Amino acid sequence: MIPDKDFIKNPEVPGPTKEEIRCVVMCKSKVSSDDVVVEIGCGTGGLTLEFAKRAKMVYAIDKDVEAVKITRENLKKFGREEKVQVIQGDALDVLENITSFDILMIGGSSGDLPSIMEKGYEKLKINGRILVTSILLETRVEAVKTMQAMGMVPDVVDISISKGKIIERGTMMLGNNPVTIVSAEKL
Ligand code: SAH
Repeated sequence: MIPDKDFIKNPEVPGPTKEEIRCVVMCKSKVSSDDVVVEIGCGTGGLTLEFAKRAKMVYAIDKDVEAVKITRENLKKFGREEKVQVIQGDALDVLENITSFDILMIGGSSGDLPSIMEKGYEKLKINGRILVTSILLETRVEAVKTMQAMGMVPDVVDISISKGKIIERGTMMLGNNPVTIVSAEKL
């Protein structure tokens, strides 16, 4: 995993997803070198970079111009540009033009989560996976309900990480906000 501190950052763009969370996302996605990944909401490119190291091809999509820019800069920094197509646009529009894929990773949806999941599900290969990372309570509930409505069986993992900060008297543990990963396979 790439350490959080090594990413180029823009204060206007969220991410990168913390290293330990990226670890679990990679594990739950079961990504392999044969997989085509569609990532909605690439932000800083934290997950994009990890998928790019492991998958055959990645489509990284973000509606925000600055996010697309910083993701491209990070891909360049780590020499992973060739396998990734970074696309600026809204998830629903861009999904229209992608034919089929093995993994749909949704890291941002701005209120359109059910439609993005439904459109993605149509194009997802059998045995393909949908993953949603959420910081909001409402998003995780919506992800679970939408998966169930599509006949999928969601796996829900809530991750709370504390990291040690070295201070004069010892190591102080500081908590990060919990992140929930909701994932399911297309049967
Ligand atoms: N996982 C990223 C951070 C994601 S932040 C990382 O590790 O760096 C969520 C992103 O989703 C934001 O950049 C936001 O612009 C994008 N987003 C939200 N709704 C979207 C939509 N409907 N279509 C495309 N991108 C979207």
